Amino acid sequence: MQTISNWFQNNMDLVFILYGLAFFIMGVSILSQPKKGSKLKLANILWVLAYFGLTHSINEWLDAWEIIKGYNRSLAGIRFYILLISYFFLFEFGRRLFLLEKEKYPVILKKFSKCLSWWVAPVLVLCIYFLGAFFNESLHSEEIWTRYLLGFPSGILIGAGFILYYYYERQIFKPIGVRRYFIGASLTFLFYGVLGGLIVHKSDFFPSNLLNKDLFLSLTKIPVQVFRLICAAVATWSIVGISRIFNWETIKILEEEINKRKKFEAEREKLNEQLLKTNENLRRLALRDSHTGLYNHGYLVRIIESELSRAKRYEHPLSVIFMDIDFFKSINDVYGHQFGDLVLKQFANNLQKVVRSSDILVRYGGEEFVVILPQISIVDAMALSGRILASINSYEFGNGTQTVKLKVSIAVSSYPNDYVHRGMDLVELADKILIKAKEHGGNRVYSSEDTKNNKGVPVETIQESSDVSTLKDKIYRLTKRANQSVIEATAAFAKTIEIKDYHTGDHVEKTVLYATEIAKALGISGESIENIQQASMLHDLGKVGISEEILSKPTNLTEEEFMKIKAHPQIGADIIRPIQFMQSVIPLIRHHHERWDGRGYPAELKGKEIPIGARIIAVADAYQALTSDRPYRKAYSKEEAIRIIQEEAGSHFDPEIVKIFTEIFNRDTQIK
Ligand code: GH3
Ligand code: MG
Ligand code: MG
Repeated sequence: MQTISNWFQNNMDLVFILYGLAFFIMGVSILSQPKKGSKLKLANILWVLAYFGLTHSINEWLDAWEIIKGYNRSLAGIRFYILLISYFFLFEFGRRLFLLEKEKYPVILKKFSKCLSWWVAPVLVLCIYFLGAFFNESLHSEEIWTRYLLGFPSGILIGAGFILYYYYERQIFKPIGVRRYFIGASLTFLFYGVLGGLIVHKSDFFPSNLLNKDLFLSLTKIPVQVFRLICAAVATWSIVGISRIFNWETIKILEEEINKRKKFEAEREKLNEQLLKTNENLRRLALRDSHTGLYNHGYLVRIIESELSRAKRYEHPLSVIFMDIDFFKSINDVYGHQFGDLVLKQFANNLQKVVRSSDILVRYGGEEFVVILPQISIVDAMALSGRILASINSYEFGNGTQTVKLKVSIAVSSYPNDYVHRGMDLVELADKILIKAKEHGGNRVYSSEDTKNNKGVPVETIQESSDVSTLKDKIYRLTKRANQSVIEATAAFAKTIEIKDYHTGDHVEKTVLYATEIAKALGISGESIENIQQASMLHDLGKVGISEEILSKPTNLTEEEFMKIKAHPQIGADIIRPIQFMQSVIPLIRHHHERWDGRGYPAELKGKEIPIGARIIAVADAYQALTSDRPYRKAYSKEEAIRIIQEEAGSHFDPEIVKIFTEIFNRDTQIK
């Protein structure tokens, strides 16, 4: 023990150097610890403790210097001021630390906190000077008062401050296990306060005359500075440990930042995905016709060129089918635009069923459709077009209450038969061929070959021809076509009467078919046969003026009701009277209910006075009526119907026509 004591007393310079070093390390470690952005209040005041550490370490090293070099008065003065400054920082740190959690303190501590204003430390410094002046050797006594008034209370404030701070922030600190550092710091600063603040030089005033370093040495055999060194070392260890909270905080902030970033990136990823999807949908939508779901015109323009160059490269054929529904305007006019839309949709569905999945179906315009057929030759394309035509012609378009049949003109162009440079040339060529198909009556399939055969006018020169007869022919056809438009519209309208008249299905079409067959068999041709066709199509137009009640009456009609029925040929004739080009159709409509024996209506014409067309329609209409269900009876079989008509030959019907019709009946499966 004695040797240890002696060793320490002989090596005090070393003790001071180490003591100073401990606080120096503390100061440097605090200052070098990054605390920027910390949310902990402690971060804002630790610098004060760091300044204490740095200044106090100088003080200790000066002590060591004094031991090595001997006493020097001016050095002693400097050493004192540095001690005063360092204790000033220590007190100030204790004061600020104690106030950190003051809002949460119980009443008594709150009251005490109020006493710890900023001016306390300066006032204490003044007191030190004041008291120092009272005693001998002012420098010596000032140092003692510095320790009493600043050093000792600092230890108490810091000791209590660390414990209170930990206590009130323990929720935050618990997970990182820094409690021992706080306890360590608290206890060491308490001890340090006592050892540095109360164990002073021996002096002649109370209490230093009793409680001093000499007493301490005689009791413990070890100089007090050694214990202060231990305190300094433990304090440094504790403070460095406490500093971990800033690392942890930084890591936490970083983690939060990283998480936030990750979340943000995940969101962005998701957004990107959605954006891509939306783009994809938009692109898809941009290429599709929204109503039918088929590709649109824009898509056709883009795809046709690459299809043609592919066809040329691999020496494959490439065909294009161009379709335009005939007289579609009249469907809109008669049944409404909405119904027209429905028909277009059904038309598209029909096409989809007929073509291959590798064929490209396009809605070219309103009621115009295009099919691109890669690797399909003209022959196959014509065959497919035929199937499309048959499928469209046989389908009943419409809804539960209203149905219509469609006619469609189809044009086929095909590489390499039609040699073209650009893909769109194929489409344009088909469009030209289509005009021809329409001019020749529509509802047919044409290729460029047909246009040459029929008129000897090559497709390329259809529009450029200046030949007068071709032009005349063209005008004639266009006029006819315009007329046909009116007839079709009127016929579509007549179809609505058909429904009113409780005829089901294709009453009008059948009547037209029978009448045409009879007329042909009678050798009628040209305009006359067209008149008969138009008249048979429109013969019942006048029923528009008759109430449904009368038309569908299942029992016998009264005289008055029959009079109304008898008016319909006249009404029909009156309806079309304003249409100039139908003048020759009017008599056929007006007289289709006349009888061979002169007992018909409205003019009671007899035999050959009745226009031949009207006589034909009478037979066609009768056969049609007999073979369909009526409100007052079931349909007769075809054989019965023909027998009934034969019985009335010479009375109701023209016997010649009945004879011809019987012949047709016997050979023609279409009628049978
Ligand atoms: P044709 O082709 O035989 O010469 O006669 P068209 O009546 O079909 O004549 P055109 O081609 O000139 O008229 C096309 C009509 O189709 C015009 C318009 O009323 C109708 N249409 C076009 N697009 C639509 C659509 O999207 N919905 C409906 N309901 N009708 C349409
Ligand atoms: Mg059109
Ligand atoms: Mg059309």
